[in-house]
Amino acid sequence: MARRKYVVGNWKMNGVTASIADAQAIFAAAGDHAEVDVAICPPFTLIGAMVAAVPGAAVGGQDCHSAVSGAFTGSVAAPMLADAGAILVIVGHSERREGCGESDADVRAKAEAGLGAGLSVILCVGEPREVRESGRAIDYVLAQIAGSVPDDFDATRLAIAYEPIWAIGTGLVPTVDDVAAMHGAIRGALAARFGGAAEDDMRLLYGGSVNGDNACELLGAGDVDGALVGGASLTAAKFLPIVAAA
Ligand code: PGA
Repeated sequence: MARRKYVVGNWKMNGVTASIADAQAIFAAAGDHAEVDVAICPPFTLIGAMVAAVPGAAVGGQDCHSAVSGAFTGSVAAPMLADAGAILVIVGHSERREGCGESDADVRAKAEAGLGAGLSVILCVGEPREVRESGRAIDYVLAQIAGSVPDDFDATRLAIAYEPIWAIGTGLVPTVDDVAAMHGAIRGALAARFGGAAEDDMRLLYGGSVNGDNACELLGAGDVDGALVGGASLTAAKFLPIVAAA
């Protein structure tokens, strides 16, 4: 079965109530690209409003706690995201791995929590600049995959996003060959560990400075099933060319 293309906007810590209009414009126009799955992950505060404004839209969280409830001030549990109408959650983004000290084990626990709550999960991996420059990027990312991907999951509900840290928000992107080599290595590792379903059904997204100008090339790289988009996902004008490229 061919994997459907998947383009996901990660709004990060951007967006207030007025930004719901941008999401409405994005989802309305995305309807013209029925062959592409489009999702937006706004800040927690906007999930309910976005779902209410665009019924049926794929809206997600940018993180979740690994526990289902408890004394974790400031955190949001995966079942709470589902309760708010989210259908997916991003875990392991480098801004959380680096900024919040999340380990592979933490990311794995969060992925399990998301799956357990019935959400789809986008699990992020990616190397820092010095690792890329030292030629160890593939080993580094495969170690993240080994440590953070759960043992048991429905392959249609877990996607991997390869996001080189040095490409996020910088305007720098890897070469198409480097993206294809990394995605091929990730696909091979998943197939070796999980077998056919992971090989056939798991979607591998590229993220890091994707925009309307480079999306065609990046999304055309081998084993790239879509994109996780930050800065260029905030408005329809910037996001829709990426959806169209997919
Ligand atoms: P960017 O962010 O598109 O702004 O580089 C991507 C991401 O961090 O998911």
